[in-house]
Amino acid sequence: MINLIRNLEETKKELEHSNKKYERLAKTLPAVLYEYVLFPTGKNLCIYVSPKCEEVLGLNQKLFLEDMNNFWNLIHKEDLPKIIKADKIANENNLNFFIEIRILFPITNEIRWLQLSSSPSEDFYENQRIWSGFILDITDKKRMEEQIFHYATIDSLTEIYNRRYFYEKLKKEIDHFIEHKKKFSILLLDLDRFKNINDKYGHIIGDEVLKHFVRETNKFLRPQDHFGRIGGEEFCILFSETTLNEARNISLNCRYIIENTPISTDLGDIYLTISGGLVEIDEHTLDVLPLIEKADKALYLAKDRGRNQIVAL
Ligand code: GH3
Ligand code: MG
Ligand code: MG
Repeated sequence: MINLIRNLEETKKELEHSNKKYERLAKTLPAVLYEYVLFPTGKNLCIYVSPKCEEVLGLNQKLFLEDMNNFWNLIHKEDLPKIIKADKIANENNLNFFIEIRILFPITNEIRWLQLSSSPSEDFYENQRIWSGFILDITDKKRMEEQIFHYATIDSLTEIYNRRYFYEKLKKEIDHFIEHKKKFSILLLDLDRFKNINDKYGHIIGDEVLKHFVRETNKFLRPQDHFGRIGGEEFCILFSETTLNEARNISLNCRYIIENTPISTDLGDIYLTISGGLVEIDEHTLDVLPLIEKADKALYLAKDRGRNQIVAL
């Protein structure tokens, strides 16, 4: 009897110790811990959520447990279908669940990125499997990824695509043409006598002229088009799903506006002209380099014929 009481006391102590340890972890870990159940009817609830949800989600623990909608309502509109679908698939197939979503953080209304991970446990609640998971705030990581992506794809002077990323877009459009036979055109552009501008006004103003050219040209582009800086003062426009004839009109207008829109600087107005080579995709140019080479030939002709013109091949 005495042994039994001693054992019971020891078990109680161990339990208290283990509870304390869990509470300490839940309070200290930079993550929200939760247990979640999804019913076949679509009804869902959290049977446990750790107090960190206040800090990570801006949502009170009690409100979270009372009604899961308090959580769903925080999720960014574009991410909601994604998480509902992933949740359903994971539950139906008993797979680990992993997703990255955005929420609108209450009070400050800022966007925060969250990572949710959960796994099916061995336990059940009202005949449904309990999922154990955690939520992490990954906003800083996401911002960093966005920044790295920006640096890797965008030209720092003109803020348009760099050559590598532009060629990637071009490759995708070529594949789209191969699959769906949707023709498209590209216009390779080179600033005329740009060295003279640099020599006369200096490199800093030369840079401003490049930015001015990009700003003016951007006005002619439609949302589906892409614009890239291929080299120093050489640019390329991808007119998505656009025939040569349609692209020619846009290109001629653009050339005209560039010629007639000087950039005003402290050293006076600077006039600029451009030459362009325009080509349409065909069965001989089913890769980036042959297509660019053909546009380059057209551009060479434009320069050879006196500059300030678009040559279409
Ligand atoms: P054309 O194309 O009409 O034959 O003559 P161009 O004088 O424009 O020809 P070229 O291609 O030989 O010269 C291009 C010049 O562009 C040379 C280079 O100093 C300048 N350039 C290249 N990148 C930059 C840049 O980022 N900023 C500035 N300011 N100049 C640049
Ligand atoms: Mg040039
Ligand atoms: Mg050049």
